[in-house]
Amino acid sequence: MKPPRFDYHAPTTIDQAVELLARYGGDAKVLAGGQSLMPMLNFRLSRPAALVDVNRIPALAYVREENGILAFGAMTRQRTIEFSPLVAQRLPLLREATRWVGHLPIRSRGTIGGSIAHADPSAEYPAVLTALDGEVIVQGPKGRRTLKPGALFETYLTTSLAPDELLVEVRLPTTPTGAGYAFEEFARRHGDFAIVGIAALVVRDGARCTSARLASAGAGPVPVRLRAAEEILERDGLSDAAVEAAAARAAELVTPDSDIHASAEYRRHLTGVLTARALRRAVERSEGPLR
Ligand SMILES: Cc1cc2nc3c(=O)[nH]c(=O)nc-3n(C[C@H](O)[C@H](O)[C@H](O)COP(=O)(O)OP(=O)(O)OC[C@H]3O[C@@H](n4cnc5c(N)ncnc54)[C@H](O)[C@@H]3O)c2cc1C
Repeated sequence: MKPPRFDYHAPTTIDQAVELLARYGGDAKVLAGGQSLMPMLNFRLSRPAALVDVNRIPALAYVREENGILAFGAMTRQRTIEFSPLVAQRLPLLREATRWVGHLPIRSRGTIGGSIAHADPSAEYPAVLTALDGEVIVQGPKGRRTLKPGALFETYLTTSLAPDELLVEVRLPTTPTGAGYAFEEFARRHGDFAIVGIAALVVRDGARCTSARLASAGAGPVPVRLRAAEEILERDGLSDAAVEAAAARAAELVTPDSDIHASAEYRRHLTGVLTARALRRAVERSEGPLR
């Protein structure tokens, strides 16, 4: 099908984009990579009066390191992230997660800001944002505000962004030296959205775990930070027994729904299995240099 009629605007600055969003009083949509929005328009699941195409705003595409943070302009393409030496070195969890996102053509157009603003609970980037407790900066007519994942993701495909706000930057803490990481997921076919995905990061000091980060994708309406499972590792270390206990706890922490792809029970089971798998790989990596 073809999309319904819409006005089209291609601003070249962030201020112009926000002004256009405000002008349509909530009835305009931001067009980023279009990989999720265009199918929704074609299926007429979304019928905005206007599209504000932000692909011609150079100030929205960058990767910068700033005092222990990697800052990504919202329009940074997923493929740029996949091949960025800075990301490989400072945020290898994000690079690994990126390789699970769709296929090459999708990653060539899709953006980090679009993926997070779209808030598909099965998507990889929202889970990484949640695991690392990163933040996003959004700009609206009244200025900028910063949101943590808990304040951003509300439910399926829904964030707390107002219709006249533009997500402008994603900020993620860089990986401490010697930390181990892994993104594990299960999907029916390569490139499909995850049935369940798990982002894991462990920081160790000998046998102790000084910090653990775990979050799930696909196991509920929003990505879930698995804090009580992290606490088991921070208390008991990174032995096989502690990893198994953390994985069992992770499965208890999620509240998945059933859908045509999988039952709630299966998603819960997968959460435990994939948490154990991700933690084992993260622990293995934490013993050597980051790769
Ligand atoms: C076949 C296929 C497989 C896919 N598989 C996966 C997968 O495995 N994992 C995964 O994570 N994704 C997957 N995707 C989706 C892909 O990652 C998209 O790129 C992503 O969901 C949306 O990013 P986008 O830049 O294309 O945004 P768009 O499609 O342009 O926009 C998506 C939504 O976000 C809003 N939006 C976009 N940018 C902003 C912004 N800066 N500020 C405010 N609102 C904004 C738009 O208005 C729209 O509502 C797949 C897509 C396809 C077609």
